[in-house]
Amino acid sequence: MTAERIPVAVLGATGTVGQRFIELLQGHPWFELVGLAASEQHGGRPYAEATRWRLSGDMPSSVASLPVVPCRPEALPDVKIVFSALPGEIAGDIELSFAKAGVAVFSNAKNYRMASDVPLLIPEVNADHAAAIVQQRKQRKWSGCIVTNANCSATPLVMALKPLQPLGVRKVLVTTLQAISGAGYPGVPSYDILDNVIPYIGGEEEKVESETLKMLGNWEEGSGFIDASMVVSAHCNRVATREGHLECASIELERDAPPEEIIAAWENYTPEPQQLKLPSAPERPLLYRTEIDRPQTLRDRDAGNGMTVTLGRLRRCPILSYKFVLLGHNTIRGAAGGSILNAELCVSKGLV
Ligand code: NAP
Repeated sequence: MTAERIPVAVLGATGTVGQRFIELLQGHPWFELVGLAASEQHGGRPYAEATRWRLSGDMPSSVASLPVVPCRPEALPDVKIVFSALPGEIAGDIELSFAKAGVAVFSNAKNYRMASDVPLLIPEVNADHAAAIVQQRKQRKWSGCIVTNANCSATPLVMALKPLQPLGVRKVLVTTLQAISGAGYPGVPSYDILDNVIPYIGGEEEKVESETLKMLGNWEEGSGFIDASMVVSAHCNRVATREGHLECASIELERDAPPEEIIAAWENYTPEPQQLKLPSAPERPLLYRTEIDRPQTLRDRDAGNGMTVTLGRLRRCPILSYKFVLLGHNTIRGAAGGSILNAELCVSKGLV
């Protein structure tokens, strides 16, 4: 890769996903974290004063004295890439301003995920969708770009489905058990979530249902994104775990296949990021556990440094074809880690 590291910044650096970005960018071989931004309330104070570090271990010393500046391109003049961990309510205009200023924006927010010229990217699933950046630059007349990653429950589901597409996935019914960190900080009040399951997460089911089709569909120059022809139905629940979204899925396949073939498709899946050995690509994007009671949120969420999706309990479904359980780390694979991998892919393709 390049001898000099690319200067990058995190927008929303004080939040749940922002802190993950900071953790995962420590010692990154291609990217150098030089800027931190959040709301105006921090007024340039050092990160250590502006933030309470909530991840395990201490706040990295390299960021403690960095000022927390407002989310404006002129406040981060030398930055080539920004990782956005901003809430959807305000991410739209801020991300646009950076792309217009020539900065590559890798976003976790919902705003542009379904836009017709914005890649909704998981490098293990739809690396070819990154080509949409070229059209985006032409259409929007900017030299920057916006690339998004998916909702944190759609991400592991799509990764599980991708290797099964040759079998013709026609229907997907998924029930999620989502961790509280998915709601940001301070998120769901403890009084509401302890000893409880909340069977509603605003907008989440719609996102899982639509984003899955975009990611598993095709990108064709001239025609744009074409959705995959399948139907997805999601039930999304908030449960009292801290990190990791567990999901129970049933799928209907066009062609019958023995369970061994499905497990082999998952286990042998070696897509582009693994072939390219991108720095954040886990050795195994998908891992199938044979124990009858795995994956478990607590035990399996950190597989592959939080970047591996763990699968298990594959069995015949009396209504659809098969059912199984999957698990993905929501703030790593489903957010900061996924976004960094997106940036690595785009850099490796010469798009950034
Ligand atoms: P969060 O913990 O609430 O953090 C929000 C961040 O945005 C904070 O740094 C906050 O900084 C900043 N911010 C708030 N208002 C701002 C404003 N007006 N101007 C500039 N900065 C502002 O949220 P999160 O969970 O990290 O989520 C961030 C984004 O990632 C959201 O779009 C979310 O949907 C998405 N996402 C989250 C997850 C997850 O598992 N949590 C997964 C996938 C995607 P202050 O300190 O200044 O308030």
